[in-house]
Amino acid sequence: MSEILKLHNMLCSKEISAKELTQKYLSAIKSLNPDLNAYIKISEDEALISADIIDRKIAGSEDIDLLSGIPMTLKDNISTKGNDTTCCSKILEGYKPIYDATAWQRLKSKGAVHLGKTNMDEFAMGCTTETSVYGSSKNPYNKNFVAGGSSGGTASAVSANLAVYGIGSDTGGSVRQPASFCGCVGLKPTYGAVSRYGLIAYASSLDTVGVLAGNVADTAVVFDRIAGFDPMDSTSRPDFSPCAFDFLDKDIKGRKIGVPQELIDRADEDVKYQVLKAIKIFEDMGCVVEFFSMPSLITALPAYYIIACAEASSNLGRYDGVRYGLKAECFESIHQMICKTRSENFGDEVKKRIMLGTFVLSEGYYDKYYAKAQHLRQELKAQFKKVFERYDALVTPTSPKTAFRLCEVEENKEGSFNADLCTVSANLGGLPAVSLPCGKDSRGLPVGLQIIGDKFMENRILNLAKKFEESRGEFGLKDMGVRFDV
Ligand code: GLN
Repeated sequence: MSEILKLHNMLCSKEISAKELTQKYLSAIKSLNPDLNAYIKISEDEALISADIIDRKIAGSEDIDLLSGIPMTLKDNISTKGNDTTCCSKILEGYKPIYDATAWQRLKSKGAVHLGKTNMDEFAMGCTTETSVYGSSKNPYNKNFVAGGSSGGTASAVSANLAVYGIGSDTGGSVRQPASFCGCVGLKPTYGAVSRYGLIAYASSLDTVGVLAGNVADTAVVFDRIAGFDPMDSTSRPDFSPCAFDFLDKDIKGRKIGVPQELIDRADEDVKYQVLKAIKIFEDMGCVVEFFSMPSLITALPAYYIIACAEASSNLGRYDGVRYGLKAECFESIHQMICKTRSENFGDEVKKRIMLGTFVLSEGYYDKYYAKAQHLRQELKAQFKKVFERYDALVTPTSPKTAFRLCEVEENKEGSFNADLCTVSANLGGLPAVSLPCGKDSRGLPVGLQIIGDKFMENRILNLAKKFEESRGEFGLKDMGVRFDV
């Protein structure tokens, strides 16, 4: 059942006011956030003012949108005019954008109530939120485990019912992987479906703005409102008008689902077990399932890291203390000022990626690394094209593993790169993909199922996800935070 619809009905029937609803969320955040570290900034005054506007509309019998008065959160790399937007980096401390990101501006125009900014890996580089300058977010299922990343704060907040939904970014899996670790639904849209205007760039050819929510219907409601052409983003698709919500209940009998064997084989036993069980449910619902091989899904991982780091090294050049960034205090020359600004205020993971990116773009190494990675990306895209002639959607695990223990990744970096194995291909191919909970591992941590579609086929993958959710039952969110039992 859509939580948004339920709350909307409660607001319209005056069972609760938007202000009371917002206050409930704010007090739940105050009591639970010190443990979870999901929010890094709470916008209490702003939230209450927005709620008040909605209450006045309801009192005046004005029609309100489904999202009006619904409390939500934004990842800290989504620009909010006049409000701190730091990418959880010291270098952006105190930075207040002078404009709103399009996704946020569209939600704001519908009356969304913004509770505050959520934690993330610094500049969205990581898969645990442990690279955040604010320290890591915790997994509501077990606080000794990470919430995933980079949108880990958003996933932790949604999973603990400290926001009805959240907006995150996904460059290589940052919406889907934390959603899968925390038992939420996470949608990474097609590249070009949602404007990137105001999303602080990590790797521009891969970055997307996505949605995290407690169920598929809510995800579709939010997607429909943030997607669509935006003249402020030259890569936004002009002729796309989203209508995912209207497609949710279509019959899925006869849909063809491909399962890439490579990604099943590389998953942990617990994950494999739950994903194969989920695949069986699709068969029981009348889908035609076929296992197939797609080797380029494996070479996608090194290609992703080369391309992402190359683009990051260019995008992060602007943080030099002149154009953007906290300027170093003592320096004797402009050169020293830039060096000190960047050395003192970027974290280790970001510096490592800038160096790697600069290296793969440098003369003598460009062909060996960057050009080769681009070639692999083209090959992957060509294979996807063929695959989607045969299948309506692909089903895979979202991550080969469930949530890591806190600090586990620090001790085993390779493990963290592998965490992105199943997600990066959708970014390289520009394809839409959704993660939704499909079970738990032996430690009680959520397992995520990923459904990938062809370009602009959000309708189709959310339809499959909704049908799966109906037959599997919703069970993702923790029994904590704000809960209404209707
Ligand atoms: N974990 C991946 C990385 O560190 C993906 C991050 C993302 O999607 N922003 O690059």
